[in-house]
Amino acid sequence: NKQFTLKSRPHGAPTQDNFELKSVSLPELKQGEVLLRTIYLSLDPYMRGRMSDAKSYAEPVAIGDVMVGATVCQIEQSNNEKFAVGDWVLAYTGWQEYAISDGEGLMPLGKEPSHPSYALGIMGMPGFTAYMGLLDIGAPKTGETVVVAAATGPVGATVGQIAKLKGCKVVGVAGGSEKCQYAVEKLGFDACIDHRADDFAEQLTSACDAGIDVYYENVGGKVFDAVLPLLNTAARVPLCGLVSQYNATEQPQGPDRMGALMGQILTKRIRMQGFIIFDDYGHRYDEFATDMQKWLSEGKIHYREHLVTGFENTVSAFNDMLDGKNFGKTVVQVNQP
Ligand code: NDP
Repeated sequence: NKQFTLKSRPHGAPTQDNFELKSVSLPELKQGEVLLRTIYLSLDPYMRGRMSDAKSYAEPVAIGDVMVGATVCQIEQSNNEKFAVGDWVLAYTGWQEYAISDGEGLMPLGKEPSHPSYALGIMGMPGFTAYMGLLDIGAPKTGETVVVAAATGPVGATVGQIAKLKGCKVVGVAGGSEKCQYAVEKLGFDACIDHRADDFAEQLTSACDAGIDVYYENVGGKVFDAVLPLLNTAARVPLCGLVSQYNATEQPQGPDRMGALMGQILTKRIRMQGFIIFDDYGHRYDEFATDMQKWLSEGKIHYREHLVTGFENTVSAFNDMLDGKNFGKTVVQVNQP
């Protein structure tokens, strides 16, 4: 059984040296336990926070421990009557090929789910995050303008498509022309602006000719700088993530703009609210699952995966995702079903 453990805490972007790829043998299964074979491992931006020991809403991974993460597994052996060999489950077994579980916390996905990996994306944590952040905090109304960055990732793509279903004008922000084209042609966004363009702020301004009513914040940094002056009175800003600063090692240079930001929030009565999906909304998962299942079956939501094969590529795939080299939800295929 191969596993990635955390060897040291990254300074800036993680490197291969921060992890150890170990081979360990697994103990015999006890009564009540199951052996899980990881088929899909989810890679998500929050994992960068778990590699660091800065104070956060969750405990960091301890040095020497297996990196955490959601997985979709098949039962390889079972000493637990609730699970049969071959069953699919959603688990949280982290960056490893196999794991032993007493069954606690495993979510059954059935014998032959049509898209098992969706439980890590559109039907799982990222889809749920998009849904609750947009609808509960963003509260978009028909005709309003919604802006979302990381627009082709699992959260951003879902936010924009739900906003379209609610009758909004949707402007995405993404890295590169291929992603922008996909957001408009496939996801149905009204426009999508490349944040790497020199005139990014000007392009965003002309795309949002009626200002911005909901800015779903995934990235921070210069995207937020361009968005702030465009926010309308009574705009809502669900603060979901700040991926542009996850690898930062120091404060950015420049004048202190906190006063100006507070001034904008005050005079425009902007409502900005952070949230942590399962802590704040765990009890509302069924509401999301019902709507999303329906939208998917009606073909109203598109979902794209960035499937990486080979467990040994996990660290580089994680870095690629933070760098925007993914195109869709990053999933590592660890074993064949
Ligand atoms: P993605 O798969 O979309 O990956 C992150 C993307 O961020 C990259 O692909 C890249 O896309 C973009 N990006 C990276 N650096 C920058 C930058 N400097 N400026 C602009 N864009 C950048 O991630 P997810 O959809 O999984 O997550 C999106 C956000 O949601 C993250 O911030 C994450 O932390 C947050 N999140 C929060 C949760 C919560 O409970 N609050 C739960 C789940 C996710 P591109 O190439 O288009 O620039």
